[in-house]
Amino acid sequence: MDTQQIVLASRPTGTPTLDNFRLENKVLPGLQDGEVLLRGMYYSVDPYMRGRMNDAESYVPPFQINQSITGTVIGKVMMSKSTDFEAGDIVSGNLPWQVQTIVPAKGLSKIDESNAPISYHLDVLGMTGLTAYFGLMAIGKPKAGETLVVSGAAGAVGLVVGQIAKIYGCHVVGIAGSDEKVKLLKEKYGFDDAINYKTATDIKAAVAKACPKGVDIYFDNVGGEISDAAISNINFHARIPLCGQISLYNSTDAPVGPRLQPMLLTRSVLMQGFIVSNFKDQFPEGIKQLSKWLTEGKLKFEQTTVHGFDQLPTAFISLFKGANIGKMIVEAAVS
Ligand code: NAP
Repeated sequence: MDTQQIVLASRPTGTPTLDNFRLENKVLPGLQDGEVLLRGMYYSVDPYMRGRMNDAESYVPPFQINQSITGTVIGKVMMSKSTDFEAGDIVSGNLPWQVQTIVPAKGLSKIDESNAPISYHLDVLGMTGLTAYFGLMAIGKPKAGETLVVSGAAGAVGLVVGQIAKIYGCHVVGIAGSDEKVKLLKEKYGFDDAINYKTATDIKAAVAKACPKGVDIYFDNVGGEISDAAISNINFHARIPLCGQISLYNSTDAPVGPRLQPMLLTRSVLMQGFIVSNFKDQFPEGIKQLSKWLTEGKLKFEQTTVHGFDQLPTAFISLFKGANIGKMIVEAAVS
């Protein structure tokens, strides 16, 4: 049986381009015992994949040249030789960017289709929602009356961080890259204030104005100058969950910023990096809480959906231009 896959054609220098990817045909082998044939429905594109395009050791291994890109995919079981799944089941897993895939059933999870749209299991009820939940709850430790600043605020993680902080009674300020995003954060998602970092002439002053009592929690999704500005307003005993550094992922040199450690030291600030998988034993608890907030209407979410399997590289690259509101996903037509 023939299918299509997207492989890493070359490693990028700086920002990835379409030339770094290649769409090609692939012949699938026969289905063996314990395996299922899947057709991809929703594909997640995520900033961390940029790191996997480099030939560098990290917490996940690099993609290999001429091999399929992999990521979280939700798919429909078309044929099954496993007792765990039957045709028609909707499952998710870390899977290749292929239209159809044959994989062992044991790495797949069945999706509960009852509580939310299926694709929410790629984000608010999946990896990015859990990142927001555990990064904020375990490291940020929000308390009523405190001020939280989140960068990448209108993205998959940031939207959820800001809303959870509101549930906990915080004054919430988001930093994002367009006036449209700023408006949405304030009017739809209940943020107390939001800053467009692309038009602010002085981000540090803008954060100070939006946070008259200083910053108690800075949830860092982007790093760079935005984080320098937020941290320059940090309070005594503040917490900084270090979640992502997207502004640096395409850097070709080692950027040097202000040296903020003396301020962290003298103000007794906790800055802690984390990877969502640190909390994997607690994922069921996180999904239960996020589902409850969604059902109660305390948590809202949205996605930017790009249509067509062949659009995966374009959707991925556009993350670095801020093309998404909420989670960027790619939907493939499945009958
Ligand atoms: P996302 O925010 O949905 O999408 C990326 C957003 O980043 C873009 O929409 C863009 O929004 C912003 N951005 C792009 N380039 C930027 C730059 N140079 N400076 C500032 N902002 C820039 O992505 P996400 O999935 O929620 O991830 C957010 C961050 O968390 C990423 O750094 C990611 O690597 C990290 N993350 C970490 C974990 C973990 O386990 N630690 C898990 C998931 C994600 P604007 O329009 O606002 O620029």
